[in-house]
Amino acid sequence: MTDRSPLHVVDEAVTDDSPREECGLFGVWAPGEEVAKLIFFGLYALQHRGQEAAGIAVSDGSSIVVYKDMGLVAQVFDESTLTALQGHIGIGHTRYSTTGSSKWENAQPSFRSVPARRSGVALGHNGNLTNTIDVAAMVHEAHNQPRATTDSDMITALLAQHGGPLEQAIADTMPLLKGAFSLVIMDENAVYGVRDPNGVRPLSIGRLAGGGWVVASETCALDIVGAQFVRDVEPGEIVAMNDDGLRSVIYSKPEPKLCIFEYVYLARPDSVLQERTVHDVRREMGRILAEEAPAPTADLVIGVPDTGPVAAAGFAEESGIPYGEGLVKNRYVGRTFIQPTQSIRQQGIRLKLNPLRAAVKGRKLVVVDDSIVRGNTTRAIVKLLREAVALEVHLRITSPPIRWPCYYGIDMATKAELVASDLGIEEIRQFVGADTLAYLSLPSLVRATSQASDGFCRACFDGIYPIETPEDPEQPKFVLEDLREQQKL
Ligand code: SF4
Repeated sequence: MTDRSPLHVVDEAVTDDSPREECGLFGVWAPGEEVAKLIFFGLYALQHRGQEAAGIAVSDGSSIVVYKDMGLVAQVFDESTLTALQGHIGIGHTRYSTTGSSKWENAQPSFRSVPARRSGVALGHNGNLTNTIDVAAMVHEAHNQPRATTDSDMITALLAQHGGPLEQAIADTMPLLKGAFSLVIMDENAVYGVRDPNGVRPLSIGRLAGGGWVVASETCALDIVGAQFVRDVEPGEIVAMNDDGLRSVIYSKPEPKLCIFEYVYLARPDSVLQERTVHDVRREMGRILAEEAPAPTADLVIGVPDTGPVAAAGFAEESGIPYGEGLVKNRYVGRTFIQPTQSIRQQGIRLKLNPLRAAVKGRKLVVVDDSIVRGNTTRAIVKLLREAVALEVHLRITSPPIRWPCYYGIDMATKAELVASDLGIEEIRQFVGADTLAYLSLPSLVRATSQASDGFCRACFDGIYPIETPEDPEQPKFVLEDLREQQKL
């Protein structure tokens, strides 16, 4: 897979088939700080987790203001919008849609007023619920202000209709949810970080030099605001940040099942997961892949940006084959609504990746990439390299074949989207046009992380789902839109 910045053009020729990310979360309690700017930079560091929409909610202790829009963080916010967001408490969100359409109403933070508490509640969600229909049915009519069609907004509605203090509302509501959810939640006076009992999506706590507290999806977002990593929010834990400091409430017994795909592709290489930098783990994946699936005729190892080069360096180190750059990425390809002309459309993947002809011409390449989803992008890359006169292309993938859909927040939700769901490795090799193709085995992927296998969700690789899957597994993404059409929402 090649890219974290899906072009939002209609034509598939210029989009890639990478798994779409999930969402990025940031929350902060910091008296005396301009939190809107902290959140902006935190979201900026988390941009890779979602590029469809961004939003910030802040409170000055008396009221909550929310600003959100479609687009990248730097497109949504400027100096004047951030200046208008005054307060010392806030949360932020970058979105890729995993439930509900990509539209303004579904951008986050989601917000509800809370008449019973004479206050408001704002929420950002990373992950996917698997009991969205049941949760929607729990929302009372009065609170069912039908704007958004996301599982996240249903959680906000449940919190808003609870009569008690927000912390109690969170503690009472979380056990009603099934699926994957890391959350940042706020009212006028406090910020909360929450993880589901399996901790499928990450969430880390940091301490600001001035004494404030931060929670963020990845530690790279703590680094950018100068916060010191303290610890992760534990699975099944609610962390409260307010004038009393940081407090912890355990609402459920933890059964850790972190998404192993965070290591493969999702997380930034400079983030730390379970005490190891993702960069180091990816390098180890490449090293083990060279042990498991050597390519003895090759004379150059290259990686497919963004994640491939690190693993390719590990492959080169282990195999003794020299490492080099062979594909250059256009780093500034971002979200755009501009329709490509026919001639640009024909360039396809070249809009994002270009081979270094002088480096690959006449070479027998090992090409390291992180995963294959539909296979179209991989096929286009192999074709590019052959056009640049590479003599051999030995494809090495740093994860096992993706054979099962993800219901926990990565948008690869149907088997039909996955080339490995019904093709064997040899058939995939033929489809993508490589000379050889090998994947890292699941035990080796786990070994590269230095963690125990049973601490991970690995369902897209082995089909063993640690949390119950949705009732309608074929199209859970639009389940609330379907309900609305049937006038049941
Ligand atoms: Fe991650 Fe795959 Fe599990 Fe989804 S199914 S949470 S992508 S390991």
